[in-house]
Amino acid sequence: MTQHISPITLQVDLGERSYPITIGQSLLSDPDLIARHVGRRAAIVTNTTVAPLYLERLAQVLAAAGKEVTTIVLPDGEEEKNWASLMQVYDVLLREKCDRKTTLIALGGGVIGDLTGFAAATYMRGVPFVQVPTTLLAQVDSSVGGKTGINHPLGKNMIGAFYQPQAVIADTATLDTLPARELAAGLAEVIKHGAIIDAGFFDWIEANIGRLVGRDPAALAWAVQRSCEIKADVVRQDEREGGLRAILNFGHTFGHAIEAGLGYGEWLHGEAVGCGMVMAADLSQRLGFIEAGAARRIRGLVEAAGLPVVAPDLGLERWIELMQVDKKNEGGQIKFILLRPLGATVIMPVPSEALHATISACTR
Ligand code: NAD
Ligand code: MG
Repeated sequence: MTQHISPITLQVDLGERSYPITIGQSLLSDPDLIARHVGRRAAIVTNTTVAPLYLERLAQVLAAAGKEVTTIVLPDGEEEKNWASLMQVYDVLLREKCDRKTTLIALGGGVIGDLTGFAAATYMRGVPFVQVPTTLLAQVDSSVGGKTGINHPLGKNMIGAFYQPQAVIADTATLDTLPARELAAGLAEVIKHGAIIDAGFFDWIEANIGRLVGRDPAALAWAVQRSCEIKADVVRQDEREGGLRAILNFGHTFGHAIEAGLGYGEWLHGEAVGCGMVMAADLSQRLGFIEAGAARRIRGLVEAAGLPVVAPDLGLERWIELMQVDKKNEGGQIKFILLRPLGATVIMPVPSEALHATISACTR
C-alpha cells in the first residue's frame, strides 16, 4: 500500500534571499510546483546515474508547462566535481544561448547541487537556480545553506561561492533508488542534527531508525523536514559561517581525519561523520559533559543506521596531524565540537590526555 503524505513547505528565512523548501512524495510529477520556480528557459544539470532515473520525468513536466528545456548530463562521481565539468556546463549554456533569466536546475546529489549552484552563481554573474536533491544527504544537508563550489586538485570545496537557490524541491520518492550505503551516509547528518540541537528529535530518530533504514516514506519525510528546519535555522543565524554554523561540523573533525587518512573515497563522508560522532561523544563523556549512557546511545544509533563505529588505526601522531588541518582551527590549536549535554554543543580545545584516550579507545 502506498501511503499518501501531503507535501510540506518550509521557508529559509534570509531576508531578500529567502526561499522555500518543499518536501514530499512524487513532487517531480507536480507541474505546478516545478514550474512555479522556473523561468521561461530551464537548463537541467544532472549525471549519468540520475539521468536515466529522473531526467525525462522532470524535463517532460517542464516542457508541458511551456518551458524551453536544455539538459546537461555530466559524468558521475566526486572526482568529477571539478573545473572540466563546470566548463562543460558553461559550454552548453553559451552554445544554446541561455540568457541571464535561464533557471539552472540541479537534479542529483550533493556533487551536482554544489557544482550547479556554483555555475548558477557565476554564469553571466548569476542566474536563478533550483535544487532538486535526490540523495538523502543532499535533501537533509547540502541543498540547504547556499554553499556551492567545486574541488581543486589541492583541496576539496576550495573554489566556490555562497549562493542561495530560488527553491529546493525534495522528492522523497527519489530515495527509493538510492544505494543503501548512500542512504546510511545521509542518516549520519540526520543524527547529527538531533545530537547538536534537538534531543527530542534524537529520541525520535532512535525510536524510528528501523523505519528510516527501511525507507518508510513518512519517516523519511519527517527526518528530511526536521533536518532542513534545524539546518535552515542555523544558517539563518549565521549565513556566512562566522560562528554558530560551525556546530554543523559535529563529528567532522574526526571524520575528516578518517577521510583524509584513508584517502578520500575509501569511506563515504557520512560514514566518516558517523564514526566521528561516536568519537566526539566519547570525548564529551571523558570531559564529563555527557553521561556514559548518552555516549552509548550515540554509538548504538550510528551502528543501527548501518554506519561504522570503529575508526581506522592511523597512528596517534597521524591522527593529530590530520585534525590540525581542519578549517575551524586557528593557530594550530584543534577546536572540538562537543556535546554538553546531548542536544547542545560547546566548541573548545581539549586536554591532549583526553583526546589521546578517545583516539585509542575508538580505533582498531
Ligand atoms: P553524490 O552527489 O556523489 O551522490 C551519491 C551517489 O548517488 C552518486 O553516485 C549519485 O549519482 C547517486 N545518486 C544520486 N541520487 C540518486 C538516486 N535518487 N538514486 C540512485 N542513485 C543516486 O553524493 P552526496 O552524498 O549526495 O553529496 C556529496 C557532496 O555534497 C560532496 O561533494 C560534498 O562536498 C557536498 N556537500 C555539500 C554541502 C553544502 O553545504 N553545500 C554539505 C554537505 C556535502
Ligand atoms: Mg557533512
